[in-house]
This record gives sequence, C-alpha cells and structure tokens, in this order.
Amino acid sequence: MKARTLIKIFSGIDTADGDGVKLTRIIGSPQLNMLDPFLLLDCFASDQVQDYIGGFPEHPHRGFETVTYLLNGKMRHKDNAGNEGIIEAGGVQWMTAGRGILHSEMPEQEDGLLQGFQLWVNLPRSAKMTAPRYQEYAPDTIAVEQLAAGGSIKVIAGKTDQDTLGPVKNDYVFPTYMDISLPAGSSFSQAITKGHNAFIYLLEGEVLIGSKSEGTSDSEQQTLSAKNLGILSDGEQVSVTAGEQDSRFLLIAGKPLNEPVARGGPFVMNTEAEIQQAFIDYQRGLF
Ligand code: FE
Repeated sequence: MKARTLIKIFSGIDTADGDGVKLTRIIGSPQLNMLDPFLLLDCFASDQVQDYIGGFPEHPHRGFETVTYLLNGKMRHKDNAGNEGIIEAGGVQWMTAGRGILHSEMPEQEDGLLQGFQLWVNLPRSAKMTAPRYQEYAPDTIAVEQLAAGGSIKVIAGKTDQDTLGPVKNDYVFPTYMDISLPAGSSFSQAITKGHNAFIYLLEGEVLIGSKSEGTSDSEQQTLSAKNLGILSDGEQVSVTAGEQDSRFLLIAGKPLNEPVARGGPFVMNTEAEIQQAFIDYQRGLF
C-alpha cells in the first residue's frame, strides 16, 4: 500500500468572523483557498469571553455543508425552519445547507474555554439545491476506538481499519473525519481511499507522518508541529507517530468534486450567475 506523505504545511491566518469571534482560518485563506471538497477550516479556541461572546448572529448559507465540532464549551444553533439545539463539548453538527438556510450559532456560555472547528464541505452541482438537513450527534453517540498501543480514535465520519464506523452519512464526498489521540511515541495507521484529498490538523504535540524507512525509496517521515495543518500526498494509507509528547490531531479526507467553484460570502455555487441568484433569493426572503 502506497503511504501518503506530508507535502505542504499551513498555519492559517488570525482573523475574526461573525460578530467579532476570533479564529484562525486555515482553509479558505489567501495561502490555501480550498482543498477540494473542503472550502474552509476555522479553528477557534479562547477562554477570553470577549473573543467569542458575539457569536455568529443570523446569516444565510447555500450550496454546501457546515460541520461544527466542539471540543470545549457549548454553542446554541437556531434556524429559520424552527430547528434549535445545543452543540455540547465533544458533539458534532453536520449541516447540509443545500438550497438555503438562515441560522445563528451563539456561545451558550459567558466564561470559560470555547474551542472547536468549523469545516465547510462542498456539495456537488446535483445536490447544491437539495433540502436542508442536519446530522447532529451528541458526544456519547460518536464511536471511540481504543488503540491497542494506547490512544484512541473518535470517528465522526468514515471507517477505521478496525471497522469502527462514524455516524455521519455523506454519499457526495465520502468523508473521513477522525479525532485521534496518541500517547508519546505510539503510532497509528489508517487507510484513506486513493484519490481523496486528505489533511491532518495537529491540535497538540508533535507527530511524524509517513512510514518508517525500511530501505524502500518511497518511505519517508516528516514532522508536523502543533497548530499546523499538513496536506497529505495521494496514496492508500497514512501512518502517524507521536513524538516525545502526547499528541492529538484531526484526520480529514474526502473525494474531490472537480467542479467549478464560485464563492460569494456565505454562498458557494458553480457559477457567478448562481451566486447572484442566491443573493436575490436571500433578499426576497426565499430561504
Ligand atoms: Fe453558519
């Protein structure tokens, strides 16, 4: 099996979105516009209330999916179809905006740490105008696989090599979304469908990516340090070894759509005309 290697590293840019929420944008930044089918990756982590209290007041989306994964804190979401709920620490909300949704995402706390990720996953042309829907999973409903050598894999989407299956269903890009904890010095490997774009975001620690050199020319290991995103080369599997510290990272992959992408703020379509139509539909109150 051809091992994937680390080919590029990005640290993202510090910015703010919503009503002044401080975040680091790693995908959807000038350095890394997208990694098909992933349009955006924001990381937010602060225990300073002024960094997050403004939240994300009501705004629209059309043409893609937003995935919120919270590590610490709570967020309340509410939409114009009457859906409302709280995403708890460890929980995930996979929202298919489809033809259009108007929603707000607000911190459900006035102090303490709020930490998590928002990922935007593109929809193919054939599904951009699909009916909006949610896949929401509380922390205790998301499978966690314990690794024999220590550590664990929390599986939000996709399937581990030991057949632990994540709850999220998506037949557009067949995503992998795993949150992996490795004790210092231990290793993990995972099959990733050839042709899927894949990256690792390292939350803490330091990892070596790639297989140990065993005399073959295509084996190599490269270091990824904390708060960085590493893009993986194509291949059939990835091996990760934690360095001298306990390490934690997200492994995310998906099938590229290979379609034209037209972006207009909260709308992502295939053409500029469709973006204009999204603004018109939004202004007419059709969402
Ligand atoms: Fe949103």
